[in-house]
Parts: sequence; structure tokens; C-alpha cells
Amino acid sequence: MNKMALRQIRKKGDEILNKVCKEVKNFDDKLELLLDDMYDTMKSADGVGLAAPQVGILKRCAVVDIGEGRIDLVNPVITKAEGSQIGQEGCLSIPNVWGDVQRPEKVTVSAFDKKGNKVEIKGTGLLAVALCHEIDHLDGKLFDEKIIEED
Ligand code: ZN
Repeated sequence: MNKMALRQIRKKGDEILNKVCKEVKNFDDKLELLLDDMYDTMKSADGVGLAAPQVGILKRCAVVDIGEGRIDLVNPVITKAEGSQIGQEGCLSIPNVWGDVQRPEKVTVSAFDKKGNKVEIKGTGLLAVALCHEIDHLDGKLFDEKIIEED
């Protein structure tokens, strides 16, 4: 069994959160370890998603789990977005801030898993929100700039 390794979650104000991440080119043990650590870190913080810059790594990868199982996203791209929804969001990097954000109701994401296999993920509702929120992180965008109404 792998030993659980938690990484420190960077908080808003840390400029690494505003940087654009680089594409992953090597699908190696280091990447797998990063994704495993990110998943454990996210779970222990009760989050539903975590992107690499949130643990100080400028690589295009993220993990999502809205309670329906772990999804690893490497080099994710939104290939289709449909409809619209407004829902409350929060972020592990922005403690105690919650607000309503407008997102697509349904998205299709093309990505790779940690082994380098191409995957396509379709998400509606909360999963669509989580996918959009994490992919935004990879472009240095934080959800609080998109809040239309703060709670
Ligand atoms: Zn976030």
C-alpha cells in the first residue's frame, strides 16, 4: 500500500495560482505520484477537485471526485460546452469564500489519464462545474473573479 503523502495547499495571494501551467509531456512515476498526492490532499481537505498549481506545481493536471469516483485529468481541454447553470462554488485555495458562478450545464473534456491513455469525460451539473473550475486553475484563473453574487 502506498503511503499517503499530503502536499501543502497554496492560498490566494500566492502568485503561482495566477500562472499558466505547462503541458505534461512525460507520463512517468513522478506524474503518478503527483496525482496520487493531489488526490489524498484533496480528500483530506474535503474538496471535490484540486489542480496542480494549488500544490505549487505548474503542470496541466488535476484530480476531481464529486463522490462518484476519482477522475485524473492530464492536459485536459474542454471540447464541447452546452447550456448554462448558476451554482455556488468554493475553492480550497480561497478559504471561507463562497459565491454563485455561471458555468455550462454540460461539458465534454478530452484529456489523458496518468498512464497517458486518451480519455473523454462528459460531465453535467456539479461534475461540469468541477471540471471547468479545475481547468480554469491550469490557466491561472480563480473562481472568485467570476462570482456574480457572493454568499
Ligand atoms: Zn479551486
